[in-house]
Amino acid sequence: MPTRATKRGEQRTPLDRDCDVLICGASFAGLAVARELSASGARVMVVDRYEIGERQTSACGIPTQWLEAMDLMGAHQQRFGELVIHTPHTTVRYQLPWTFSTFDYRALCELLAQQGSFEFETAKVDGRSGDTVHTDRGEIRAPLIVDALGWRRVLGGGDPIQPPDAYLSRGLEVHPHGRGDDLEIWIDRRYVPAGYGWSFPADDEVRVGVGSFDPRFHVKDTTVQLARDLNREPDGYQGNWIPHRIREATEDGVFFTGDSAGHCLPLTAEGIRTALYFGIACGRELAEVVAGRQSKASALARYGAFSASHRWKFEWMLRVQRLVPRVPPRALAPSLRAIGNRRVVNWSFNHYLDVAHPAFVKR
Ligand SMILES: Cc1cc2nc3c(=O)[nH]c(=O)nc-3n(C[C@H](O)[C@H](O)[C@H](O)COP(=O)(O)OP(=O)(O)OC[C@H]3O[C@@H](n4cnc5c(N)ncnc54)[C@H](O)[C@@H]3O)c2cc1C
Repeated sequence: MPTRATKRGEQRTPLDRDCDVLICGASFAGLAVARELSASGARVMVVDRYEIGERQTSACGIPTQWLEAMDLMGAHQQRFGELVIHTPHTTVRYQLPWTFSTFDYRALCELLAQQGSFEFETAKVDGRSGDTVHTDRGEIRAPLIVDALGWRRVLGGGDPIQPPDAYLSRGLEVHPHGRGDDLEIWIDRRYVPAGYGWSFPADDEVRVGVGSFDPRFHVKDTTVQLARDLNREPDGYQGNWIPHRIREATEDGVFFTGDSAGHCLPLTAEGIRTALYFGIACGRELAEVVAGRQSKASALARYGAFSASHRWKFEWMLRVQRLVPRVPPRALAPSLRAIGNRRVVNWSFNHYLDVAHPAFVKR
């Protein structure tokens, strides 16, 4: 379990600050924004309610090329060339055209933070009026504000989204000690009527979980069941809501990136590389503002349009997310075997990687 390092008691001195860019949220999206601003000379401040890397937010699976492109291989744990899919009637192995890896959350966040240049404070963000962000430790003012706070979209103008009546999936996993060789998923109604179960080995632990596209389905019992079926002890729970619909990436002068903009991919719930990808895009626009080469209005328009240009891909994946649970279990096996043809796997997985391609990092 993570140890609590967040400032407490007397350490929580009042905050009353001004900066050029305020990034709220210090996970994948927020740290990627900060990384792009490292050479800008801007006074960048990052706030999060926890210390950097303190609270793991996912199973930490990502295409290996993303770790390589971002110089984050120091956090790498295990690499997989195959995806193993179990259904009640068959097991298929897809040879992937690229590899997938697991990584250590704390190590990755620390490495990513080292690539940025910013002041960091732990504080809980409560809201915003204009250019002022209100936290439980006081106020921070900045002309450029980024919400990378995850699915709650705390700095949005409208009513906060309330699960379960929202475009949210839910995910829960356990982290038992143990080893494994395969990246496995289960499409099986015993575990979840609409969604999937997974087992992602990461050196000496295995991340076993269940994700439900229907936020009303409680995944705790079946997460335990899947762990027990795999002869693993259900230790170290970690779960969250997962947005499955892309939203506006700018609103009322604020930049939203990662889960706060619904940048997590529907169907697979892969949201780390997209958080990095859109975080980089956001950071690049902000760097242009800091350098005086574009106005804030232009950055908002350009970043909003960039995010929106991906909407059709997200909507397409959402359609498939809605379709898969409707396929009768007996028809799943032949469908998966048909898709398992090498050329079809290569084609679909390469298109899937293209949604947020690692080449974007070096552009
Ligand atoms: C169980 C589970 C497993 C998953 N596995 C994978 C996976 O293997 N691969 C993958 O690609 N995706 C996975 N995802 C999805 C992925 O975790 C998210 O899409 C990703 O974390 C989004 O990154 P982010 O930086 O936008 O938000 P987050 O990682 O959620 O970070 C938000 C940050 O904001 C902080 N914060 C939130 N509210 C406040 C506040 N009010 N004040 C201050 N700070 C605040 C949080 O502490 C956190 O540091 C998984 C999700 C779940 C729930």
